[in-house]
Amino acid sequence: MRWPVVNNSVVDRRAALAGTLIALLAGCAELGVVGDGTTVSWGPPNEGVLVDGARLPLAGDGFFVPPRWAARGTQWGSDELIDTIAFVGRAVSAAHPGSRLAVGDLSIAGGGKSKHHRSHQTGRDVDLVLFARNAAGKPVELTEMRRFGADGKTVGGGEPLWFDAARTWTVVRALVEAPGPGVANIFLYAPLRDLVLDHARASGAPDAIVDLAGQALAQPSDSAPHDDHLHVRIYCSPSDASCTDYAWRKPPKKGRTIAAEEDIAGEMAERPRIGSMLHFRPKW
Ligand SMILES: [Zn+2]
Repeated sequence: MRWPVVNNSVVDRRAALAGTLIALLAGCAELGVVGDGTTVSWGPPNEGVLVDGARLPLAGDGFFVPPRWAARGTQWGSDELIDTIAFVGRAVSAAHPGSRLAVGDLSIAGGGKSKHHRSHQTGRDVDLVLFARNAAGKPVELTEMRRFGADGKTVGGGEPLWFDAARTWTVVRALVEAPGPGVANIFLYAPLRDLVLDHARASGAPDAIVDLAGQALAQPSDSAPHDDHLHVRIYCSPSDASCTDYAWRKPPKKGRTIAAEEDIAGEMAERPRIGSMLHFRPKW
């Protein structure tokens, strides 16, 4: 698919988007252009669409979609996001046999605005349910999001549970190491972020990986504190030319194929910060 040239004006972008949707309805073939055979994220995460989206299966190695989100049909994402979730699932399965990551909303079919999110429009966002342990220290498989307080204990009614920093670190580390365009943001309530990074350092994880995880992990300033899930956004695929990153660190120059510690340290040096994401105030 060849996309219309757009400038940064919201009005013009909306007009271009409307034109694109009409073009999609008309069918690419009739316009004399063909899709590239992959998914296409178009526009920014809070005002875009997902073309030829890929669908996450409701269960796979190390992950599953609980009934609440399965019923919404919000399992659509870019190829790169689906691959990233599968990569994270395999990491969970390898590090914590028997554990499964509970996956919440990706995008609706075709992307765009949905009932539950301002972002999640271009197939590059996914919500992940946090891991928890019970009073006996046993890992629990949550099928609903539970809110955690600053001390890592659940707040509100229901069985008291504790935030599982170890399994959450496995998820965060896998997100940072995943092949593809790379993770741009991981939103999490600040005290839980501290618990995850403290665990990472205590467990001897490589400094470069902990650093990059620490930079991706943040509590957004303009939305809910994310005390009941991780909101994950990956960078635009380099092949999606009309995809707009809202990120505070430049994306990798090209999608990576491997992610060893040296690669990540080198990549960070190549990708200077372009401001604080907390000052950027995009709409999540
Ligand atoms: Zn989200």
